[in-house]
Formats: sequence, C-alpha cells, structure tokens
Amino acid sequence: MAQINENYFKLQAGYLFPEIGRRVREFQKEHPQADIVRMGIGDVTQPLTPAVIRAFHEGVEEMSKAGTFKGYGPEQGYDFLREAIAKNDYKERGADIHADEIFVSDGSKCDTGNILEIFGQNNIIAIQDPAYPVYVDTSVMAGRTGEKLGNGYYDGLVYLPCNAENGFIPELPENKVDIIFLCYPNNPTGTTATKQELKKWVDYAKRNKAVILYDSAYEAYISDPEIPHSIYEIEGAREVAIEFRSFSKTAGFTGTRCAYTVIPKSLVASAPDGSEKPLYPLWFRRHTTKFNGVSYPVQKAAAAIYSPEGKEESKSTISYYMNNARILRENLTQMGFQVFGGTNAPYVWFNSGRGISSWDLFDKLLNEAHVVGTPGSGFGPAGEGYFRFSSFATHENVLEAMARLKNLKW
Ligand SMILES: *Cc1c(COP(=O)(O)O)cnc(C)c1O
Repeated sequence: MAQINENYFKLQAGYLFPEIGRRVREFQKEHPQADIVRMGIGDVTQPLTPAVIRAFHEGVEEMSKAGTFKGYGPEQGYDFLREAIAKNDYKERGADIHADEIFVSDGSKCDTGNILEIFGQNNIIAIQDPAYPVYVDTSVMAGRTGEKLGNGYYDGLVYLPCNAENGFIPELPENKVDIIFLCYPNNPTGTTATKQELKKWVDYAKRNKAVILYDSAYEAYISDPEIPHSIYEIEGAREVAIEFRSFSKTAGFTGTRCAYTVIPKSLVASAPDGSEKPLYPLWFRRHTTKFNGVSYPVQKAAAAIYSPEGKEESKSTISYYMNNARILRENLTQMGFQVFGGTNAPYVWFNSGRGISSWDLFDKLLNEAHVVGTPGSGFGPAGEGYFRFSSFATHENVLEAMARLKNLKW
C-alpha cells in the first residue's frame, strides 16, 4: 500500500485560522443578529489601484492579438519586472542586488515554504516565536523537526522568543544554528528591526556560516527613514541572506499573486565534499524545473507599481491602512492595553495586561463586543497573553470596533 508522508501527522490539528472561523460561525449561529467586526484578517481590503489596473488590462489586450500574444515566459520572470525591482527596491536604497538575482514567483508563502528544498536535511533551523505559521509548518512537512511537544514546541526546532522584554528582537542563539527565519517588519507583532540589530544577525550568520531567510513582506509600511527595508542594506548580507518580498501587502496583490525572492550569487553553503558552493544555481534549477512563471498580465500589473503614478497610489492605500493602525494604537493605549507595532507595520500587537490568555480574550471580544481579532498564542507559545489586530479593515469598522471595546467590563 502507498504510504503517507508521516510528517503531516505531526502537524497541529487545529490550524489557527480555521479555529477562529469555527468559533465565529458558532457564535453567529447563536446570535444571527450580531454585527461582527472582523479585525483578525491578514488580507487587504482596498482594491488594486488605477495604474495597476490599466497595465493589467493592457497585458490582457496584448494576449488577445497574434502579434503580441505570449506563451511561456522566462521562469524567473520578465526582465522588465526584474529590472524595475532591482532599480527601485535595491539600487535606490543602496543595496547591491542585480536583476538576474531576482526570481519572480506567485507568492512569498510558497517561496518561504519551498526554500528548504535546497538545504540539507540536517540543518538546525531557528524560528522567531511568535511567527508567521508557514515557517514552522513547512519545516514540519519537510521532516525537519521531531514531534510536537506538550509545551507547544516542535522537537528539533530552535525557537527565538520575541517579547516586550527584548523589544521583539530575539537574542542570538546560544548554540549554533544553520538556518534562521527572520521577518521584519514583523507579522504578527508589527515591530521592526534597526540596521544595528540586523547587523548583529548578519555577523552571527557570517561567524557560523548560517543562512538568514529574511521575509520583508511588509517593507512598504515602513515610514521611519532609519529602518532598513531590505536585509541587503546591511553590510555583508549578500554573503549570508535570502530575501522574500511580495506585492500582496505592498499593492493589494493577495488575490492577483506576484512576489519575488532574491538569492545573491555570492551566497554559499557547504556541499557534501566540504567545499563551499553557491545556492543560486540550486534555486535556479528548482524554480525552472517546478515553476513555469507568473502570468504576463500580472507581471505587467506588478511593474506598474514602480511607475510614478503607481508609487503614489500604493503610498495612498498604505496611508489609509496606517491611519487605521494609528487609531487602533491610540485607542488601545487609552484603554490601558500594552500596545506594540502599528507604526511601521499594519499590525497592532497588544497585551491585555490582566493576565487573560489569548483565546480567553478572543472569546471575550467576540461574545461581548462582536469583534474578531487573532489570538497571539496561535503564532507560537511566546505569543500567549498577546493579541493581534490588523489594520486591513475599513476605517468605519476600526472606529466601530474601538467604540465597542471601550464599553467592555473587565
Ligand atoms: C502576507 C505575508 C506574506 C505574503 O504572502 P504571499 O504568498 O506573497 O501572498 C509573506 N510573509 C508574511 C509574513 C506575510 O504575512
């Protein structure tokens, strides 16, 4: 009989978002009149902007005529998009990244989940706690962990606790690790890392010949000029880091699908014979073998984000969300919560300060205010006691949610 990948049985049964959905549906069944405000989603709500839509339509139009029709494109993405990325996202920020080091893909979720394929089975993987659940779950699926332990941790993974005490920047691991997932601006905590803080990690990776997998999906939300947008703004990062970027949160592409991964040609890792070999050709081989490129109209639409109008328009959508984040921060602070994030990231992370667990707070907010958020413990054991609100809601809903929370009795 065919055998199942046993690693899938190690996965936690109730994944965070289905469990939230279940509790909300149950509540709705008992209270069909309740007007529920959803502040839990990690999905955008504002539409694609006019410049993006125009380019998208042009791309579709070109596909309709024999003279401009396109079949398979280059697996790594069209040059026009990769060059726009290299120029705008890297060269203009002083980061030395070339167009041919960029791999355009259909999402950072896939890329962060697939990247472990080019690494050996015995690497020690370190993950921030709390974190975007994809890093842990795909490590489990790929057989890079042991069983799930009673305390919520997987055997074999190194967890890097991020909490109010360390400013949500983890301490360097005590023992040597080989692969480090870092995400800034961070999902779920909405916090950022300075150049000095990232330099510490780049230097650690250099000393230990480790590789940093840097997820920068929220870089467009940074407004503080001192905060780096890319790991490659840090000296030495070309030798130790892979970076993931996505147009999902930058420009509302969650349903359109376009992202990219950067692998510098100077990044090396150890081969079986002990020599140092570049990782670039491996990902090139993987990408061209298992992926056939993002659709042409979508890449045209993505390139339009870099046009002057496109830049202005995405900035204005981001301001809309960041105004929501400001309202969340101000109101939650006034109510006496300990509030983090929400100034250079769309997520506001807070602690009830009343010793209530994340799920108890979830149930209280759902039952008494009809407001849905995301329990921090769903992102990892160190998220216990914390809660996440997303600013990807409408302005009206944010105001309504805050008004309801102010009336809660504790
Ligand atoms: C939303 C998000 C992404 C983007 O995923 P896509 O597959 O590109 O939509 C990547 N990383 C984090 C941490 C995210 O929250």
